[in-house]
Amino acid sequence: MAGTKKSVGRKAKGAVRSGATSDGRRGSVRPVPIPSGKSSARATGLRREMRGLVSRLSRALDVLASAKQPLVKGVFQNYGVRCGKASCWCNDGHLHDTGILAAYEDGKRHSIYVRKRDRPRIQRQSAEYRRLRKARAEVVRLSEAIAELSDALIDALAEEYAPRRGE
Ligand SMILES: [Zn+2]
Repeated sequence: MAGTKKSVGRKAKGAVRSGATSDGRRGSVRPVPIPSGKSSARATGLRREMRGLVSRLSRALDVLASAKQPLVKGVFQNYGVRCGKASCWCNDGHLHDTGILAAYEDGKRHSIYVRKRDRPRIQRQSAEYRRLRKARAEVVRLSEAIAELSDALIDALAEEYAPRRGE
């Protein structure tokens, strides 16, 4: 089996001439040799780097794919305000607690007053929104980085096909 015409042709120079394609499926017994030296070391490093990014991408995708909690779009802000009444204690620094939900819609910032009883829930739900947006940004960033690494890996593995005349 190992000594078929085509596999011999790989080694013996000038042996394969008769129209047989050198990559014939039955003929190629030997695996394609792994390029040695510099490009191989580079490819090894790139593959390792890519695996790291792929597992990070996988985690970010898991965050999104497993998302179940209701959320509100926007940033919840809890802070103290002065009410404006001259006689109020807030003038002495005891500020009134207030909460707003700030959201962007069509590039415009909207702020909605959040009722006191809704604040814990809105805070939780806007945190969930932020968590998913963060994961989404991570997916985009990592995908781009993986695409760039793929290009580099393909370049590192690429061999020049330049047959010399007479072979
Ligand atoms: Zn006040």
